[in-house]
Amino acid sequence: MTTNWNFEASYLELRDIFYDQGNIHPVDKPELVLFNTQLAESLGLAPVAIQNEVDLFAGNRQVETAFSQAYAGHQFGNFTMLGDGRALILGEWVTPNGKRVDVQLKGSGPTAYSRGGDGRAAVGPMVREYLISEAMHALGIPTNRALAVVKTGEAIMRQGPKHGAVLTRVASSHLRVGTFQYAAAAGSIDDVIALADYAIRRHDPDLMDAPNRYEQFLGRVVERQARLIANWQLVGFIHGVMNTDNMFISGEGLDYGPCAFMDTYHPHTVFSSIDHEGRYAYANQPYIGSWNLARLAETLLPLLGETKEEAVDVANKQLTRYTELYKETYFTGLAHKVGLYARKEGDDALTDELLRLMLETEADYTNTFRSLTLGEIESLPFATREDGKAWIQAWRKRIGEQGLPNEDVVRIMRQYNPSVIPRNHHVEKAILSAERGDFGPTEALLQVLREPYNYDHSSEYVSPGPPRTYPYQTFCGT
Ligand code: AMP
Ligand code: MG
Repeated sequence: MTTNWNFEASYLELRDIFYDQGNIHPVDKPELVLFNTQLAESLGLAPVAIQNEVDLFAGNRQVETAFSQAYAGHQFGNFTMLGDGRALILGEWVTPNGKRVDVQLKGSGPTAYSRGGDGRAAVGPMVREYLISEAMHALGIPTNRALAVVKTGEAIMRQGPKHGAVLTRVASSHLRVGTFQYAAAAGSIDDVIALADYAIRRHDPDLMDAPNRYEQFLGRVVERQARLIANWQLVGFIHGVMNTDNMFISGEGLDYGPCAFMDTYHPHTVFSSIDHEGRYAYANQPYIGSWNLARLAETLLPLLGETKEEAVDVANKQLTRYTELYKETYFTGLAHKVGLYARKEGDDALTDELLRLMLETEADYTNTFRSLTLGEIESLPFATREDGKAWIQAWRKRIGEQGLPNEDVVRIMRQYNPSVIPRNHHVEKAILSAERGDFGPTEALLQVLREPYNYDHSSEYVSPGPPRTYPYQTFCGT
């Protein structure tokens, strides 16, 4: 195990329109308040030594390989030139097993892309991001990860003064759909080619020598996103800000700001305070994924064919696979969630009817599947309704047809139905304490969230919490 970071910066081989290597903005009194020992170990770093690198995690150290990335993006449908306005990639770290990851600071001060913003972040939102990304990872969903949170000792202004913080995140790369949009808008075709080749080398090196590598690359991104979003849906996750700049080429999730897990099942659920039209509502996420991928495909068109018509055909061929892949992953997952080992005709109608019952009875998404898994049929909110009873009977019949021992059925369900998710009331409590300087509740919650499929956690973590009198809201740009 190593104790020293030895960063590389392959990204800087791209033309300098893709990045900025500005100055650091040191803070006075950095204090390490959260550190992810598990992640440090999995990266091949000696956690204790790394924990002493508070200056590094605070953005106080000038690192030769550091840069902020330029990108563009469709934000709620509107195209804008963006970039890392409050983030700095310290460099790329190659793990002992040869995996290259970016190590990025968020909240480390203004950059060339800050557009008047302060480049800073507050403790609360960084704790939220830490909690949610760790929960996603434990749920088996590809995501960037949180390594550390440092309190800067400085106040920042949001709605009133807040404690400043810097979050250290680790990702397979920070290449986004928006990075390609930036290359196409600010650069030349050569820049798009250079970026695509870089992305292929980094994420799909087996395609390097393929004659149609750009088409296949698009296909890979389509596959990764279809699976990612299907898996979000299956745990009731709502990202809240699926702008094209928040969609990684790697298929990892990122930017857990205005996101939350759905409690009461409703396809129109929105948590983001600014999403008045429900663009990023739960049921819209799969469509937005497809829309975002079409924006990626547009940037690649000059690389996909000799003529525009040919290129559009090639792009469409890959884009249409999205729906197939999404449906396959989603409906197979849903079948597993109700204990069906192999999905067959009629199963989608069965799960559809379950969702309809859940909607009508305002059922808790996670706990409905949890009750089914535990065989606690009487606690299902639709258990006493005639159509509910009919569903339970049809479900039991279908389960019986499989001829599997009950323990095998339960095993399948347990793999797909988390018992604990980051419940909004727990996340809020942890954030509130963290803002007051107590990170104990965050650590306690993290312990539970790291084992989402463990059914033995206390009921306190399973409960959706007290009924709300107003919709739960989360915020961007905090
Ligand atoms: P996000 O909603 O976190 O994906 O951010 C969207 C864009 O706004 C990105 O380009 C961010 O870098 C930028 N941004 C958000 N907050 C700030 C801030 N406080 N200062 C500068 N840029 C910011
Ligand atoms: Mg973002």
